[in-house]
Amino acid sequence: MHNPETLISEEEIRLRVDELAARISLDYADKGELVLIGILKGSFIFLADLARRLTIPRHIEFISVASYEHGSIRSGAVRLVMDVRRSIEGRHVLVVEDIVDTGHTLHYLIDMLKTRGAASVRTCTLLHKEHKTEVDVKIDYLGFSIGDEWVVGYGLDYDEKDRTLPYIGVVQPTDY
Ligand code: 5GP
Repeated sequence: MHNPETLISEEEIRLRVDELAARISLDYADKGELVLIGILKGSFIFLADLARRLTIPRHIEFISVASYEHGSIRSGAVRLVMDVRRSIEGRHVLVVEDIVDTGHTLHYLIDMLKTRGAASVRTCTLLHKEHKTEVDVKIDYLGFSIGDEWVVGYGLDYDEKDRTLPYIGVVQPTDY
């Protein structure tokens, strides 16, 4: 039986998500409804937990993007695969991501949402591989900084495996 090594436990995640939800609720307390935009698929569990702990009015949307690849090399260019269902013009938006690696995905989305006239665009990510950053993106709410390892669980996968693991684990491709 394959059991990824624990990097961040269920309890640590729960406590951190509580803290993030409390801070976000405070920061947006007087700003009306917050639009949470989850990036599929990896953010679906984080978004579900975070959204349920907010104490402010919120509206949930999802977006899906893909990276252009040349062979197995990711070029950094990103394209939209599925869009939000409602206009975000004039709305306060919080983009919810599972993990920021090079930063290209978040950079592309922040630009796009600002162009569409959002009143504000902030970012929340559970994980950040800070040593791999290629483009600077501002992370307003961060769960944990991690090293350069492949992580799975709590929404994150390796080739669609281990997404529903309750904790964040580290894997090697040879584990599968
Ligand atoms: P970026 O555009 O910041 O390079 O890429 C972010 C995306 O890369 C994440 O949304 C995620 O899909 C993927 N990613 C990067 N590192 C990992 C990792 O360690 N595990 C998993 N499951 N996905 C990752």
